[in-house]
Amino acid sequence: MQNQTHTDIRYLKGVGEKRAGLFHRLGVDSIDALLHFYPRAYEDWSKVVSIASAPFGEPCCIKAIVSRMPSKHLIRKGLTLYKAEVTDSVSLMQITFFNNPYAAEKLKEGEEYLFFGRVGGQLGRREMASPLVEPAQTGERIRPIYAQTQGLSSRVIESCVAHALALRKDELNDPLPDALRQEYSLCHLRFAMENIHFPADEEALLRARRRLVFEELLTLQLGLLRLKARTRTQTALQAVQDYSEAFFALLPFSPTGAQRRAISECLQDMRSATPMSRLLQGDVGSGKTAVAAALIHTAAKNGLQCAMMAPTGILAEQHYHTLEGFLGPAGIHCALLTGATRTAEKKEMKALLTSGEIDLVVGTHALLQKDVVFRRLGLVITDEQHRFGVGQRAALADKGGNPHLLVMSATPIPRTLALMIYGDLDISILDELPPGRQKIKTYAVGSRLHQRVYAYIRKHLDQGLQAYIVCPLVEEGETELTAAQEYAQKLQNGPFRGYRLGLLHGRMKPKEKEDTMRRFAANDIQLLVSTTVVEVGVDVPNAVVIVIENAERFGLSQLHQLRGRVGRGRHPSSCILISDAENGQAKQRLQTMCETTDGFQIADADLKMRGPGDFFGARQHGLPALKIANMVTDMEALKQAQEAARGILQADPGLAKAENAGLRQAVERLFQTVGETGLN
Ligand code: ADP
Ligand code: MG
Repeated sequence: MQNQTHTDIRYLKGVGEKRAGLFHRLGVDSIDALLHFYPRAYEDWSKVVSIASAPFGEPCCIKAIVSRMPSKHLIRKGLTLYKAEVTDSVSLMQITFFNNPYAAEKLKEGEEYLFFGRVGGQLGRREMASPLVEPAQTGERIRPIYAQTQGLSSRVIESCVAHALALRKDELNDPLPDALRQEYSLCHLRFAMENIHFPADEEALLRARRRLVFEELLTLQLGLLRLKARTRTQTALQAVQDYSEAFFALLPFSPTGAQRRAISECLQDMRSATPMSRLLQGDVGSGKTAVAAALIHTAAKNGLQCAMMAPTGILAEQHYHTLEGFLGPAGIHCALLTGATRTAEKKEMKALLTSGEIDLVVGTHALLQKDVVFRRLGLVITDEQHRFGVGQRAALADKGGNPHLLVMSATPIPRTLALMIYGDLDISILDELPPGRQKIKTYAVGSRLHQRVYAYIRKHLDQGLQAYIVCPLVEEGETELTAAQEYAQKLQNGPFRGYRLGLLHGRMKPKEKEDTMRRFAANDIQLLVSTTVVEVGVDVPNAVVIVIENAERFGLSQLHQLRGRVGRGRHPSSCILISDAENGQAKQRLQTMCETTDGFQIADADLKMRGPGDFFGARQHGLPALKIANMVTDMEALKQAQEAARGILQADPGLAKAENAGLRQAVERLFQTVGETGLN
């Protein structure tokens, strides 16, 4: 069965090399993956309306006979219009196609079709422009709409899915045990697969969806609970003595109440025989690094080694310098290990790690290499958690005898939601900023103020300070990229002639990105034009202005993260949101940004206003991407799945029973993809 489900998509009828390549772009490589490639929406062709009663301007489906064949009209060079007339025996309607002889030629006079589209025109002279057309006999149903890619339309995907279903239908083994399905009244996988792609009716679609959502969330929860259980095996690596007061005495500032609380929560975990598994959440600037330093200090004084992992070399370096600054004076031996570390140096460092002479090593995923061996690894910290997969977190933890684990994240998430998502972690929150922090002034302006904004930036650059301009890409494709490049060119040749500009975008290789960031950090670049990649933060305290173009395209939480790039030094900083959005909601969102700098408040507002799609859209949580479930609207299902997962694991902790074999496979498959793709 295993081999069958992983059959390469090329073996599917109608899929050759070229289409297989296109499917690959959508993340679909096997027939099984295609079945799990769920529609992103549906078109209801099952509710046919008459021409007279068709809603104006809304998508609808009309069944009508072609009463006049399409005629061709040359409007101007390059624009051909095809006009036909159809009737539902009561009214007439005109159908038009632009530059689409193929669609027009399919229509035969006297034949009946379904036309799906928006009705326009005047009363008594209805028309439908560029409708989708299907023969009347086969078309009356709810039709799936798939995410498409250039060269692979939703319709083609639909027919491939139909083939795949026909091929596989009878072999679909349901991973959910019968008893569980009954308990939660869930339909069989076969029914779910058929009806999620080709719903018999609305009710069948809902049943199919509910079941698939449940299965997905159950798999997720089972995986998380098992991870938690694994990290919860006993450890001998206890930090019995609390040295935090001694550490505080070393600091040039006194810790905030929130920092003290978080440190004491962590140290309590680290004292016990059950290893810590904790998420430290705090807004940008809340002082997470100092918390980490306090824990490292106490761990080291208790004879434990510590490892801190950052997503990029430059971030690792920054952490290293900050931590070394805090900890060096306390006699704690720190080291930095990244891909850029020279071979000889690496070798020496590895020896010192093995002998236990290094107390703290800060590094990138280079730390995960097999030959990095610790003498007594007691504390593992990962920064910017969303860049690491759950699997990698576990891999680093596996390097010791169940070390304590702290995950730091700067993405504020409402607490209830965090509890669900980080099902495998306890949570500490830094909900207080150090005193005296200057608020970042935020302004929302229209694009007609561009020249003034540029002048404002120049004024700061002239004082030796730096700035960011962020221009969003709808999707990081060729054309949009060119747009970013062109924009940077335009700035360089125009308002910023003579200034040192740099461009940073998602298509650059990691090495190129780092080089650019490094040059910016060194003030070699004064103005950094960037797509959203500056989000993952390198500290450049000298950068004091961030301008965000088309700000309405970002989610609030993302805007907040971006804004956090400035205001990191002693200079007053500002954030300028440029947008010409007219709609009230977009305006209100930008207004929220101007009014508050509290990340948690913003996260709440974001969820309320835009919904979870945006919030979790960017895979910010390091968890497997969910294919169908939605963390907020499917809250009820999530609760049920959690309850079911607990019950299942209680009865069968290893998922070893025959009836749970399918579930175990599903969990392994889901979490394996995390291990592979978690680091980007
Ligand atoms: P985060 O990583 O949470 O964004 P950092 O740890 O980088 O924040 O801290 C931001 C800045 O605040 C650093 O310069 C740090 O030294 C300083 N800082 C941290 N804690 C305090 C405190 N309690 N009082 C004053 N300054 C602090
Ligand atoms: Mg930080």
